Amino acid sequence: APYRQIDLRELLDSTLTMLKRKFGEGVTVKTVYDETLPPVPVYAAELNQVWTNLIVNALYAMQGSGTLTIRTARENDSALVEIGDTGVGIPEENLDRIFTPFFTTKPVGQGTGLGLDISWRIVADRHGGDIRVESLPGDTRFQVLLPLTEPAA
Ligand code: ADP
Ligand code: MG
Repeated sequence: APYRQIDLRELLDSTLTMLKRKFGEGVTVKTVYDETLPPVPVYAAELNQVWTNLIVNALYAMQGSGTLTIRTARENDSALVEIGDTGVGIPEENLDRIFTPFFTTKPVGQGTGLGLDISWRIVADRHGGDIRVESLPGDTRFQVLLPLTEPAA
């Protein structure tokens, strides 16, 4: 599919709707959308996969209770989508390894270790963007940057 100019809010809301039944009663979802953000040129189906991977990881880290925060903002010539959770966090020694294929801390059968590798490739290779991560126990944020100019691929 070709890329299209899309309102990120619509994309994020549709992913949230699809995942709603996974949330459980203990999880609060907060969305904070920048209403002035222009439409972004994206491969929509691929980006839905990125949001899904990040949200499923966040839910796992919160073990059934906490707050999932989805925020959009403009950062220079990019759109920023931040997916934050109040879960266990990522130990500093793992921060460099989480995007490596097959790196997982989940029990056998529960994680493939491919979600972040695939997400990274969709964001960087397909959109010319970037993923940053900051994590402390109780406060983990994955920040996806997407250039507002059209992707090359
Ligand atoms: P998987 O989910 O199959 O383990 P991923 O590539 O999606 O593979 O994630 C790799 C690892 O990164 C996870 O096993 C976990 O250790 C860590 N991780 C990713 N997201 C989070 C998060 N929101 N909170 C804590 N740890 C995380
Ligand atoms: Mg995962």
